[in-house]
This record gives sequence, C-alpha cells and structure tokens, in this order.
Amino acid sequence: MKEPQGTSGLILNEPLLWEKGKKGRCGFSMPRRDVVPSPLDEGLTGDGPDFPDLSEVDVVRHYTRLSQWNFGVDTGMYPLGSCTMKYNPKINEREASLPGFAGAHPLLPPDLSQGALELMYRLEQYLAEITGMDAVTLQPAAGAHGELTGMLLIHAYHKSRGSHRLKIIVPDTAHGTNPASAALCGFHPVAVKSGEDGIIPAEAITAIMDEDTAGIMITNPNTLGLFEENIREIAEVVHSKGGLVYGDGANMNAVMGIVQMGKIGFDVMHLNLHKTFSTPHGGGGPGSGPVCVKDILEPFLPVPRVIKKGDEYLLSGDFPESIGKLQAFYGNFGVMIKACSYIMSMGSEGLKRASQLAVLNANYIKEHLKDSLYLPYDRACMHECVFSDRLQEAEKITTLDMAKRLMDYGFHPPTIYFPLVVHGAMMIEPTETESKEDIDRFIEALKSIVAEAGKDPDLLRRAPTRPKVRRLDETAAARKPRLTG
Ligand SMILES: *Cc1c(COP(=O)(O)O)cnc(C)c1O
Repeated sequence: MKEPQGTSGLILNEPLLWEKGKKGRCGFSMPRRDVVPSPLDEGLTGDGPDFPDLSEVDVVRHYTRLSQWNFGVDTGMYPLGSCTMKYNPKINEREASLPGFAGAHPLLPPDLSQGALELMYRLEQYLAEITGMDAVTLQPAAGAHGELTGMLLIHAYHKSRGSHRLKIIVPDTAHGTNPASAALCGFHPVAVKSGEDGIIPAEAITAIMDEDTAGIMITNPNTLGLFEENIREIAEVVHSKGGLVYGDGANMNAVMGIVQMGKIGFDVMHLNLHKTFSTPHGGGGPGSGPVCVKDILEPFLPVPRVIKKGDEYLLSGDFPESIGKLQAFYGNFGVMIKACSYIMSMGSEGLKRASQLAVLNANYIKEHLKDSLYLPYDRACMHECVFSDRLQEAEKITTLDMAKRLMDYGFHPPTIYFPLVVHGAMMIEPTETESKEDIDRFIEALKSIVAEAGKDPDLLRRAPTRPKVRRLDETAAARKPRLTG
C-alpha cells in the first residue's frame, strides 16, 4: 500500500484535568489585592468545588490534544451514508455569529426582532420553493421531530374531517425513524416490502391501502439511495382512498433544484437542515427539521407562526386548528441562519449543481467499486450507493472488518449494516464537497482492503492498527464506557 493519509505518530495521550493538576499552579497572574477580602456568599461553607489547579499551557494543550483525537468533515472525507456529512462553508458560520443574531434574546418583542423574523420568513419561502410546497414550519429540532410533527398534522387533518384513521404504511426502505414517529403519534405502522429493484411497486400499495389508513411515509430518495420511481402512482392510490403522503426528505441533497416533491404527490415532508443545508452534525449539536406542507395542511401547522403584515413581521398564534407548539421558542435559530446563508450564497443554480455533483460522485464510486464489492442493486443511484460483504464471505471478512481497516487509510468508515434490507450493508455517501482526488484515494483504499482480504485476512480482523484507539469490544464499549484517555 502507498503511504496512507492516516498516521498516529503525534497523537498524544492525555489524562483528565484532575489527574494533570498540581496544587498551587495558576493560569493567570493578577496584581496583589489591596482591599480586605470579603466572602462571596456568607452562607457558603467549605472550600467550594474541587477544581484542579492548572497553568494556561496545561489547559490549552489538554483541549488541543483532545481535539486531535476527533475526526470531522473539516479533517477529511466522512462518507457516512444517509447522514450527508458534507463540508459546510465557513461563511455560513460567520453569518450565524453576527452579534445582532447571536445576541438576540428569544423573548424580545417582534418590533425589536424584525431582522430575525424576516430571516425566518424568507427561509420558509425558500424551503417552500425548493420542495414545491405551500407553507413551512421551522420549529422541529431534528428530522425525527419533523416526522412526528408531520404525523400530528396528518392526524389533525383527518380529525378535522371527522375521521380517525389508525394505520400508516411504511415501506422497508424507509428510514428507521419513520415507523417510530408514526407509532409515537399513536398510529399503527404497516410494513410493505420493496420490489426486487429496491423500489416500492405501486401494486403493493394498492393491495393494502384502505379507508382505515391515514397515509404513507416514503423516504425519497430511499435508504438504498434509489429514487422512488412509482411515486406518482402511489400518491394517486393513497389520495383516492382519502389518505395523505408523507415524504422523508432527509435525503434532499440528491435532488435540490431537480425534483419538487410537492409536484409529484407529497402532501407533507421534512428536511434536515443539519444534513443538506450547512449545519455540521454528528457531535450532538442542535439540528433543525423544518416541515413543508401543501395548503390543505397549513391550518394545522404549529404556532406561533411568522407572518407579514405590510412591511412588518409578526408572530401569530391566531391559528385555531393548529397542533400547538412543539419546541421551545421558535426552533433552533442558529441553524436557520446557516441554512438561509447557504441557500442565498449558493443560489438556485448552485443548489442544483451541488445535488448533481453529489449524485455524480456516488455513481462514480459505485462504478469503480462494483467489481470489488457486491452491489445488490446494480442501477443508477442517487447520492449514495450500497454494497455488501458477500464477495468476501469465502475469506470470512465482514463489512465491519473492512470499515475498521478504512481508518488505517485515513478515512472515516461509511455507514455499515444499514439499510437493514441489505445483509452486511456498506452504505457510502461521498457528497458533492469531495474532490476527485479524494474520491479516487477512497476508491483505491477500498480496493486495496479488498485485496488484503484475500492475502492477509487476519490483518483486517485486527484493524484498525494505526489510530489511537484500536478495535474495541463494542458491547463493552457501549455498556461500560471508559471515558478517560
Ligand atoms: C437522518 C435521517 C433521519 C433522522 O434525522 P434526525 O435529525 O437524526 O432525527 C430521518 N430520515 C432519514 C432518511 C435520515 O437520513
């Protein structure tokens, strides 16, 4: 193998601050006090919390070393399928940290928050245009929260028409959060199998759609990275029985400026701003899962809503059929700023080009690796492609072994063992932000790993050998985590 990108030479071990501290060390120097000391609080007893004594350089090195143990999109390629771990331009972070936005208090009255309200109003309009929908709420804090919101909207819609439907159809290629969100809303999720080609056959929906079914939840593009081609027919079947069509739009990165979901039969869908629209994620930071709806669902959207009267932006709770409030204040505002800045700086042509490149990159990887790794659905994919470890079965090398070995080559592993419809799945999403050189390096790394599987399978079973943390007992790591360096 050529010298890989990954190296562990200067990654240093680091103890806890408590182990590192030494009594009497200090991180600052101040002039001698010339006033009589006075306790902060007369009621305070004891010595206060046991903070370690550290110098400034101790602290700076501590956190810098910890940061070097991390891997993120700013470090290198992170082809985690379904997660859209793309590079997020720093200009969007800068806009979000403008003092007028970053310092705004959510309880300021509307006349002192015109800028923030205008941004939310405009973002709603942009997202409505991108999705081909009529109205948007920015309240939900994540994708799954958006799904729950969508389910509550569908429930409110049926209730307003005097009907109480109990079931929701969820295909096996939907994201795992879909049936969970339906169940959380009190619906009974009904599974339906995708066809041989990974696409939902319209007949399968015709066979089970009835007047006790509130609707269907479709992930499009689906979790196999394929476009649901029968979506118009499926929507017709569902609508003809009075049901609604929910779209999981977390994979919007494949189709921005190319497909308007509202025009092909979806009545309600969510987006993941923290995937497609420039908020870094994966570290547990705040997300945002706006829900976009057709006008039939608009009356039920969460309150308060941002409305425009003349030149003024207002927050209105005057929507009597609303499902209510779903989130503290108005949603995660910082994420909205980044999304708005991203959309404005990309423009409609730029967004379309991003999706085209995301799809091109995934197909490029699929074509270059399909002789090395088994490709269960050999057809054009969208923004991600799914392989499996079937060709490595003879050597008893698994998807897990290959994913671990990728770390030795300096890549974050792709998503593994998801989607569940593919046994031993390896799901690769390069995104549009990787250069051809990096994608080629990734392809070479996987080819070289496949070759190692034939020559030295034990090496793969021991992988990774170069990072700071080697192969973990995953059960013990989850149940009894050791959180010190
Ligand atoms: C990520 C994802 C979700 C869930 O989004 P969260 O923000 O993690 O709740 C739902 N559906 C699909 C297709 C996804 O990729």
